[in-house]
Amino acid sequence: MHHFDRINGALQAEGVPLKTLAEAVGTPAYVYSSATLTRHYGLLADAVAAHPAALGDALIAFAVKANSNLSVLATLARLGCGADTVSEGEIRRALKAGVPADRIVFSGVGKTDAELAFAIEVGVRQINVESAVELDRLIAVAASKGARPEIAIRVNPAVGAGGHAKITTGGATDKFGVPADEAHALYARASLSPHVTPVGLACHIGSQITTLEPLEAAFRALRTMTLELRAAGLSVTRLDLGGGLGVPYHGQSDLPSIAAYVAMAARVLDGLEVEAAFEPGRLLAANAGVLLSRVIQVNERGDGRRFLVLDAGMNDLMRPALYDAFHDLVPVRPREGEARLYDLVGPICESTDIFARDRLLPPMQAGDLVAFMGAGAYGAVLASEYNSRPLVPEVLVNGEAYAIVRRRPSYEDLLARESVVNWL
Ligand SMILES: *Cc1c(COP(=O)(O)O)cnc(C)c1O
Repeated sequence: MHHFDRINGALQAEGVPLKTLAEAVGTPAYVYSSATLTRHYGLLADAVAAHPAALGDALIAFAVKANSNLSVLATLARLGCGADTVSEGEIRRALKAGVPADRIVFSGVGKTDAELAFAIEVGVRQINVESAVELDRLIAVAASKGARPEIAIRVNPAVGAGGHAKITTGGATDKFGVPADEAHALYARASLSPHVTPVGLACHIGSQITTLEPLEAAFRALRTMTLELRAAGLSVTRLDLGGGLGVPYHGQSDLPSIAAYVAMAARVLDGLEVEAAFEPGRLLAANAGVLLSRVIQVNERGDGRRFLVLDAGMNDLMRPALYDAFHDLVPVRPREGEARLYDLVGPICESTDIFARDRLLPPMQAGDLVAFMGAGAYGAVLASEYNSRPLVPEVLVNGEAYAIVRRRPSYEDLLARESVVNWL
């Protein structure tokens, strides 16, 4: 469910025609819908609020890495959403967007001492520790600051899941988290330190997960460990359930609903009397954004293959090149006529700069506008300036209003960060 609909045949973002935005901002450009972000957050918040006994005073922390635009974060922050962060830069973004420090979780497999020190200084809610060596470094950093941050141990429950091998994080051989059989000892060791306060366990097993079973298996593993830690006299008051729930990129209708997902979590956590945390990224943002692009030209080959050459490339939307991801591509105003097969490609000098092969589309011509759907998560955040293409801009729509929330750099901006050394 999203707020990109056709009005009189032409695609709009809420009350703003995409054609208007293409003329005002140029292409390519990401366009986000406030109403969609708000709707998705509301569905999750309502589902969580329906299970106060099992989930406690639960935190919903948006995974900033999915979409770190300040206005997107601020839209969610105004609704009460917290932030799951994986770098100092993301913590700074969350704070600047108005997320209170006590709603910021700091995760990540390789936090530097400087980043740990920063997180302690600003007083984040919780640092999720992912390894024994990281715990030692955190204890040293906290001791040097006379601090005692609250931590969770991120467990690797050996349940890998996700829409592609490259977005699986909870498998036994993945780099993330502490193996379950080591987590107990690590938790006990942390409990003896005067420089950290272990409050709970965390997991995040992968992304674009389209069935509840692997998530349930991971949550059950956290439950079992909680009971074991408590039996050993240790306190566990929070369980961070990570993110990972998938979205219907293909328009699938058989994905678990948000309500079913939260109800499953509540069932698994029932009676534990913990505070739960959810860290959705894709779930909140994916369908809230499109990448608007213009057809540069249509290359027809003698063998009948037809390339739709777009002004958006893999540097603007990397998911297809990185994870073979599928994004629906729709004409902003479809032309009349018989549908044809097109290969969707960008202008970058790489053979991986291909979004899809053999997509059936209405007849397309140079200058036509198209939108990649479901591009609000892991889209703009992964963009680069490869081929010296200025970083793709971002626009936030709210009803009939829109604002450029990241401007397209000029070529002067692009060159100003570099210099020709003075010995040349
Ligand atoms: C990426 C990430 C998330 C969000 O994952 P989604 O699949 O976008 O929901 C949540 N928690 C952690 C620790 C992450 O690294």
